[in-house]
Amino acid sequence: MLPRMENEPLLCSVCHQPVLAEQYFCANCGNSLKEKPVPISLASQIGIYALSLLLPPLGLWPGIKYLAKKSPEAKKVGAIAVALTVLSSIVMIWWIFSLFQDYLAQMSLVLQ
Ligand SMILES: [Zn+2]
Repeated sequence: MLPRMENEPLLCSVCHQPVLAEQYFCANCGNSLKEKPVPISLASQIGIYALSLLLPPLGLWPGIKYLAKKSPEAKKVGAIAVALTVLSSIVMIWWIFSLFQDYLAQMSLVLQ
């Protein structure tokens, strides 16, 4: 393989048509040229963490999506989202279980 020159145009690895460095997909054949970065701004992080905490199962999707990314920042956001989802699920299960126990206790009082 020849060393790539600095100002040599980028070529699509599939159809060998010139592509731009900022393109995510080849305009000619649709080949994925690079990974589309996920938003890791503070606002989007807060959104994902809030989703993980308030609606536990839903937080898993962005969490896994972010974990699958190559960028270490995205991986970190994904790991936190998954951790928050697990934590929130445990609290939710414990809360439902304690409500159920209260309900059972009340039922046994009524039945006595
Ligand atoms: Zn192509």
